Amino acid sequence: MSDTLAGFFAPWLVYAFVLALHGLLPARRVEGYVRDPETGRPLRYRLNGLLVLVVTVGAWALVGAQGWLPWDWLWTHRWEGLAGAASLGLLLSFAIVLPAPSTGRGLPADLFLGRLENPQALGGRVDGKMFLYLAGATLLELNVLSFAAHHWIAFPHDPSPGVALYAALFTWFVCDYLIFERVHLYTYDLFAERLGFKLVWGCLTFYAYFYAVGLWATADLPNPGTPPALLVLYAGVFFAGWALARGANMQKFFFKTEPERAFLGVLPPQTIGDGERCLLCNGFWGVARHVNYLGEILMAGGLALVLGWPLEPGPWLYPLYYVVLLSTRERDDDRRCAAKYGELWREYCRRVPKRIVPGVY
Ligand code: NDP
Repeated sequence: MSDTLAGFFAPWLVYAFVLALHGLLPARRVEGYVRDPETGRPLRYRLNGLLVLVVTVGAWALVGAQGWLPWDWLWTHRWEGLAGAASLGLLLSFAIVLPAPSTGRGLPADLFLGRLENPQALGGRVDGKMFLYLAGATLLELNVLSFAAHHWIAFPHDPSPGVALYAALFTWFVCDYLIFERVHLYTYDLFAERLGFKLVWGCLTFYAYFYAVGLWATADLPNPGTPPALLVLYAGVFFAGWALARGANMQKFFFKTEPERAFLGVLPPQTIGDGERCLLCNGFWGVARHVNYLGEILMAGGLALVLGWPLEPGPWLYPLYYVVLLSTRERDDDRRCAAKYGELWREYCRRVPKRIVPGVY
């Protein structure tokens, strides 16, 4: 097989490996937030994302250490890999959407947004959405490590500490998602979206390749010589964002699963209710209605900054994408919540008037 072909099929191989590991390795079995429309019971999930990631990165490290492939092989073949992942994402989108019953929105909308809500395979062993997120996150991590390795190979005598920091922060980001996989069963994609091109292609192609765009744009550049104090500051921006996003997600997760419990043992939930349903209105959910989105944007900004090329447009594409994605998602979620909660949502909006940025927007 030629090298180009191998590069093209590399993401297929990684995804098949992840699927096999996900199906075979031990997993936590948990109930989710989404209910099975037929039985009315919560859907059940097998979660083992962190273990799958560790084994896959271990396999990648073994391949590199044995000299079977160069450490930066995924970098060298990134364009072929991108093409392979994009083709697979497209094929799978068709394969998942076309056999399912139409939603009545027309074929283009069905293809993009999907028809099936929460398909599971192998008797519930593999959940479609959770697998896609795991697959995308795993290949993203391999790409980040391989792109960073390319930088060290290209500049062995003076590598940029910002690249090492970027790889470490991105590893944190991926591990954080997989450690808290269960919390993500309570997020918008799981309960509000269907499985179409947006999610399938989005996870297999966009997530795995575009998220690493900062390093894609700068791995071939020399050490920019960013002062260590600035690197610390930029990492601080990332962790401030992480605290906002993780804190808000956890506060809501505990509220949904154990409504009486004080968050972190110190913050009892304050709520508004209509006798039937309740909304949190203190802590993270009292400063803005989606302060978690601000957190994600700050994390992305921190990642762009640590690379040390503030005048290069490439690294900024990542935070810019978050601004576009999350500001539109906030509007969609606002409409969904207004329809679901009615007057209670309007009351919440009066109490917490800012959408994303406390005191500003
Ligand atoms: P949220 O976690 O903000 O969830 C919104 C839902 O939470 C609403 O639909 C509503 O659902 C419920 N809710 C809203 N306000 C309240 C309240 N005051 N009290 C109780 N429940 C409330 O958004 P997402 O699901 O979009 O995002 C989840 C996480 O994933 C976020 O941190 C986000 O930033 C992150 N994310 C990360 C991305 C990435 O690429 N890294 C991309 C997109 C998101 P209901 O009441 O029906 O349960």
